[in-house]
Amino acid sequence: MKKISLKNKKVFIAGHTGLVGQSLCKRLENEKCKILFVNKKKLDLRDFNKTDRWLKLNKPDYIFIAAARVGGILENSSYPANFIYDNLSIALNLIHLSYKNNIKKVLYLGSSCIYPKFSKQPIKEDSLLTGPLEPTNEWYAIAKIAGLKLCKAYGIQYKKNFISAMPTNLYGPGDNFDVKSGHVLPGLINKIHEAVKQNKKKVTIWGTGKPKREFLFVDDLADALIFLMKKYNKSDHINIGSGKEVSILNLAKTIAKVIGFKGKFIFDKSKPDGTPRKLINSKKINSIGWKCKTDLFDGINTTYKWYLNNKSK
Ligand code: GDP
Repeated sequence: MKKISLKNKKVFIAGHTGLVGQSLCKRLENEKCKILFVNKKKLDLRDFNKTDRWLKLNKPDYIFIAAARVGGILENSSYPANFIYDNLSIALNLIHLSYKNNIKKVLYLGSSCIYPKFSKQPIKEDSLLTGPLEPTNEWYAIAKIAGLKLCKAYGIQYKKNFISAMPTNLYGPGDNFDVKSGHVLPGLINKIHEAVKQNKKKVTIWGTGKPKREFLFVDDLADALIFLMKKYNKSDHINIGSGKEVSILNLAKTIAKVIGFKGKFIFDKSKPDGTPRKLINSKKINSIGWKCKTDLFDGINTTYKWYLNNKSK
């Protein structure tokens, strides 16, 4: 297996202010590389010409594409055009321009929602495009599928080392804790924290609480991404998961334990459940030497501490 070193190389993190980008910046400090990033206001990655100029001027060796428009189940289903347009243009511009500008290697970040709604669990990489998508996030999923196919196409036709990784549901410091637009884990941290503060005895969970999700702590993901950048050179996408799934109700109970909420959970069944299960099969990445380290309780604890210091009013 061809191994690369990032030492003294210019590594561009597209999306450095996002959940994944922040963790990658922190973790890359150990690699002694030169980290490149650019403010959203200075460079809109949806703009082909500006992105081209920026790459020509800054000449990165390697690129992590962690830039994306992301959101929870309601946000995703409410803004289909934004989700498909923004994510498609980011993928198209960065991957095509990486080819044009001779970037040595690119790692594109997908998402486990690219797999069919009723995939056989745990979901293997080759389940892709074997059935219909979950409607609440199909716009985002279509753009992400296009991104990983772009990597593959440029690999086949131009022999480019463009790889793509499919992380499961992520969480951690720097997440979006807004209840309306964020994902379930930060949303429930926010709701449960507020309930304790206001001495409320009930917290509402959207849907039935029965769907299951697999969660991965973002620092574990950053670790896996650097591992893949250094060691994985195939154009076939690769899953990154923790291997453990939990029902939304049990997730809420774990968060309640971390925060110290003793009240009850009630269910708002007018909100969608989304896909029933989304556990991915991570055997491929495990077999080449990477494993998730952080357990859910510890990861939530770290995330809650960050929330207390940075977000809670
Ligand atoms: P998904 O993994 O793409 O479905 O996105 P989410 O993380 O937003 O939602 C996961 C599951 O948690 C869905 O079944 C939601 O209905 C459920 N859920 C329960 N309470 C909440 C909440 O407060 N916020 C969010 N975003 N989801 C919730």
